[in-house]
Amino acid sequence: MMGLSMKYKPTIGLEIHAELATKSKMFCACENNPHDAGPNTNICPVCLAHPGVLPVINKEAVKSVIKVGLAIGGKVSKHSKFDRKSYFYPDLPKGYQISQYDQPLIEGGKLAGVEIERIHLEEDTGRLSHAKDGSLVDFNRAGVPLMELVTKPVIDSSEKALEFARELQLVLRYLHVSDADMEKGQMRVEANISVSKDKKLGTKVEVKNINSFKSVKDAIASEIERQTKLLEEEEKVIQETRGWDEGKRKSFSQRIKEEANDYRYMPEPDLPPMDFSASNEINIEELKKELPELPWEKRERFKKEYGFSDGDVLERLIKDRGEAEFFEEVVSELGDKDPNKIKLAINYIDSDLVGIMNEIKSGWDDFKVTPENFAELITLINSNKVTSRVAKTVLREMFETGADPSQIINESGLVGSSDERVEEAVNKAIKNNSKAVLDYKKGKESALKFLLGQVMGDLRGTGNPERVEELLREHLSK
Ligand SMILES: [Zn+2]
Repeated sequence: MMGLSMKYKPTIGLEIHAELATKSKMFCACENNPHDAGPNTNICPVCLAHPGVLPVINKEAVKSVIKVGLAIGGKVSKHSKFDRKSYFYPDLPKGYQISQYDQPLIEGGKLAGVEIERIHLEEDTGRLSHAKDGSLVDFNRAGVPLMELVTKPVIDSSEKALEFARELQLVLRYLHVSDADMEKGQMRVEANISVSKDKKLGTKVEVKNINSFKSVKDAIASEIERQTKLLEEEEKVIQETRGWDEGKRKSFSQRIKEEANDYRYMPEPDLPPMDFSASNEINIEELKKELPELPWEKRERFKKEYGFSDGDVLERLIKDRGEAEFFEEVVSELGDKDPNKIKLAINYIDSDLVGIMNEIKSGWDDFKVTPENFAELITLINSNKVTSRVAKTVLREMFETGADPSQIINESGLVGSSDERVEEAVNKAIKNNSKAVLDYKKGKESALKFLLGQVMGDLRGTGNPERVEELLREHLSK
């Protein structure tokens, strides 16, 4: 915390919104794709709040939130309802937002060690853009289903907040309920932050406009620092909402915080309350059965089954389900769980293969390397039939043509790495360079380097230098 006094302890609570990836909007049949459509194309009288129209609950959105709740061990409320949250802003056509006040869909739960207060469902607002000669409003996003998750104020560092946000993104993606791309605004983080010397909580400041994972950490760390400095200088922290300016890496005051009653919450009279104890349209037990393997379950399984330890490689596989799936298919093609082969497989997938894919900007669903061929390559490397250098060339060829590795090796003459071939080159080098051999035997180490170069040249770089040196020394000591 950059030289600041550690007397002040931060307390952080997060409010995270996620746009749900349902086909239609929350209360009407309009298409839900606010990021790809031309302005004001996905709109209708309901999401534009024309008089006399009635909203209808999108059950898929309700199911999505319940799935998230079940995944994190939250309690699904038996009775839940929607409420009107009133405020006036040009991006809110009704003058109120349909949200949930005192009966959220989910209460409690835990994620990444952080206790959850609640998860509720609401509708998103439109978007304003400010042009030179006025402001423009696009209502494509108005009425898009939005999930809001609120944690308890139990997070004590910016790093932990970041870890939580990342884990939530994984859960949303694993459940296929949201793409949760922060840069696109599909997942938005707000942080309530206070610092205090004792158990009594300090004045709470809300920080908004956090649009990337980097900003989650930076904005929170910066706010902790700002408040600590104020208190150390015996100044007061004002309860307010601040916006994070990513460019300036600084927050700025937006407004003094409203109290809940400013929103004049009231039950939404146009929507029926939801009763999950009686409802058979949404069956909680069925939804429980539909839950996929969750990120933390996969982490544990990968550690147990393949010997992974915590770290970047494992996290990349947990994040990239395409890569993890390919890895598991390769392991299954290898036919045994030899730890060496598994290690080789993950190394070649995670560095070489992903490297080529990034270079060509290819995805996991449209590439030519089959798990079977990849497993064959790993077996060749493992039995020293090809060196790592040859393997890289072969892999690139596999990637481009989809051919199998033995075929590529046979056709391109990329052999020469087998022990027999290395031995042949070693014998040749010894035979043709008697002076160097003599020098080496007199104790001149540099002569060995010279011989090594001769052998490698003969093998056209396909030899494994360590193996070549080993064989050279062996033959020279005869
Ligand atoms: Zn609509």
